[in-house]
Amino acid sequence: MPSNQVTQAAVNQHEPSNDMTSSVATISKVATIVVEKVNALPSETIRWPLEQVEALFDLPFNDLLFRAQQVHREHFNPNELQLSSLLSIKTGACPEDCKYCPQSARYNTGLEVERLMRVEAIVEAAKKAKHSGASRFCMGAAWRSPKDKDLRVVEEAVRQVSELGLETCATLGMLNSEQAASLKTAGLDYYNHNLDTSEDYYKEVITTRTYQERLDTLEHVRSAGMNVCSGGIVGMGETRTDRAGLIANLANLPEPPQSVPINNLVQVPGTPMDNVEPIDEFEFIRTIAVARITMPGSYVRLSAGREEMNDQMQALCFMAGANSVFYGEELLTTNNASVEHDRSLMATLGIKPQSLS
Ligand code: SF4
Repeated sequence: MPSNQVTQAAVNQHEPSNDMTSSVATISKVATIVVEKVNALPSETIRWPLEQVEALFDLPFNDLLFRAQQVHREHFNPNELQLSSLLSIKTGACPEDCKYCPQSARYNTGLEVERLMRVEAIVEAAKKAKHSGASRFCMGAAWRSPKDKDLRVVEEAVRQVSELGLETCATLGMLNSEQAASLKTAGLDYYNHNLDTSEDYYKEVITTRTYQERLDTLEHVRSAGMNVCSGGIVGMGETRTDRAGLIANLANLPEPPQSVPINNLVQVPGTPMDNVEPIDEFEFIRTIAVARITMPGSYVRLSAGREEMNDQMQALCFMAGANSVFYGEELLTTNNASVEHDRSLMATLGIKPQSLS
């Protein structure tokens, strides 16, 4: 049986039995088979055909969460969260037209434009993030792609932030292979570049760069030996098939991204996506669970939109397999949950921050 059929067979069988112990053992075994088969696939194989990802979305809610939690426990401590802190190091005036983004120069959102920060100021912010408990420091700049002189500044910041004992991540727009290699040499651990949505829905969201250009950047990052951080945004008016398409495209990359941020659109007045119909909360949780099952070894990050979620919703996202959050009161240009509130929620749920080993 081809590997992907084995994977599907594993997904389709083993309905929960009355005997919880044997059910847990069986599903645990199935999850192991799935992962072994996935890991054995040649990189060009489609691990998760779209129909199989859609089939996961269609599962009864409890079955989906149960399976996601089983896969999660096979790979991670379910009571640990990876905490990343995100700083906008250059804000606004971006030439791109991403319809959700207040940083695009094309939309009038009242955003204050800020030039690239000085290295000292970036490192100061990184020290504060570390002090608050973050283990990864992400630097975001609103560029189509970085200019060489700006890249040198970011590289110096990466060197100094790494020396603090933090993991480093950057999101600077499209990269060519030389830029990716140069960031790797500076010590950058992760590079973020989201696919955003399905290839079909993409044209409704962005017209100034192609889906293929995004895939090319991810390839350059991977080839340079950096970890890939790539996910998307839901609640942009896309269909469930689009959400499944996004997850399938991520899961079928030559290697699944090491980090998968799932964002719930934060609607910003002045952007074309202000006032779109928000995604149903259960559908958002399903998206997290499907990401967890299809990318079992990846950190799935509950990203933008968390401030609008109540504690119960966040707890369900963690149950569905989210094991990373942005930590800190601002996410680039939108608000995030407060550090105090996050600490209190983690204490209530018995969740501890993951430390760097
Ligand atoms: S998402 Fe990034 S590339 Fe798109 S407009 Fe915003 S800052 Fe620019």
